[in-house]
Order: sequence, then C-alpha cells, then structure tokens
Amino acid sequence: MLYPNQAMEDQVVWLASPSGSFRTSATWNFLRRKRSKVPWFRLIWYSNSIPKHSFIAWLAILDRLSTRSRKKNWSSSIDDTCVLCGNASETRNHLFFSCPYTTHIWEKISSMLEIPLNCIWQDALNWLCKRVKHKALYSSLLKLAWCASMYHIWIERNSRIHRQLYRSPSAIIVMIQMDVRDKVLGSVKERPSPMSRKIAAQWGLEILCTAKV
Ligand SMILES: [Zn+2]
Repeated sequence: MLYPNQAMEDQVVWLASPSGSFRTSATWNFLRRKRSKVPWFRLIWYSNSIPKHSFIAWLAILDRLSTRSRKKNWSSSIDDTCVLCGNASETRNHLFFSCPYTTHIWEKISSMLEIPLNCIWQDALNWLCKRVKHKALYSSLLKLAWCASMYHIWIERNSRIHRQLYRSPSAIIVMIQMDVRDKVLGSVKERPSPMSRKIAAQWGLEILCTAKV
C-alpha cells in the first residue's frame, strides 16, 4: 500500500512535458497526430513567408485550387479552357507552368534567380525542394519568388474570370519583384554570401547587401 509523503507538499506536474512544467510545444506535440514530413514543407512554411502567397502555393501543390479542369469533373458543361492563353485545358500543371503566358513569367523569374527554367510541375518542385533546406538569403529569395509567382498567376487568372481585368506577364513580374523585395528588405538579418548578394542585386536589393557587408 502507498502512503502520502507527509514531508513533501503536493505539486502540479504537467505530464505532457518531460520537465513536468507546462510548455506549449510539448503540449502541442502531445495532442497532435504526428505524420511524416512532406518533401516540400520548407518551400511553403518558413519564418518570413507571405501567408497569402504560401496558402495559394500550398493549395496548388495539393492540387486543391478550383481550376477549370477540376470544375469540369464536377460538371461536364463547364468550359475548361485556360483564360491566360485560351489554347489548352486549365489544369494545375498547365496554368502554373506549361501555359505560354506563365512561361514568360518563369523565364524572367528564373533568370533573376539564375536557375534553370523548368516548365514541368513535378520536376520544378523536386528541384526547388532540394535547394531550400537552409536559411540563407538565396534560399529565402527562391522560396519567396516561387510562392509570389504562384500567387500572382492565380490572382491574374481570377481577375480575368471575375473582373475581366487583363494584365501582361511584365506587369505580373513587377508585382512579384515588389512583393519579394519588400519582404526581404524587412526580414533578412544575416550577412549575405557573394552568391546571395549577386542574386539579391537582380531583385533591387543592392542597398541592403552593401549595408550588411
Ligand atoms: Zn494557358
């Protein structure tokens, strides 16, 4: 039989935490169902991300955006023609990469990042996932530029359908540049590497980089 230890006072112990004290992270890990990490998580969820950009990119990766091709599965009467080129079915892979309109955007963004142009969805995703595993400025630029491109392509597609507003690929590129530049200017703290400085200069970040070196 166990008897209370009269020499000790009762104390509260938080069993979810190894230390016995309450910790939010330990409690979250105790409550949640753990699953294996997806290979693209660093491309979407990172500390200086732009939430609305990451959200659209996340839905695109999962192929959960309401593209016309997906809508056609629900109703065969829906026109699934791509509104950006008017020349193909609007699937996720076409809309974001193989469409001639978005290819113009990726050509410019790829050259500004000095990365190879890849217009095949899965190949581009695999390539990026291997290069965003650290917190360097260059990695940050890759992630921000990719998510911003996905977001602005989707917004342009919606503007054409719902507001009959049409913008050129050049106008979309300017918006991507502005979003990436504004975010990097407000968040980068580390000393950029020579490679990062070179790429950053192409995004209009010369002042930031020379000030940090
Ligand atoms: Zn198209």
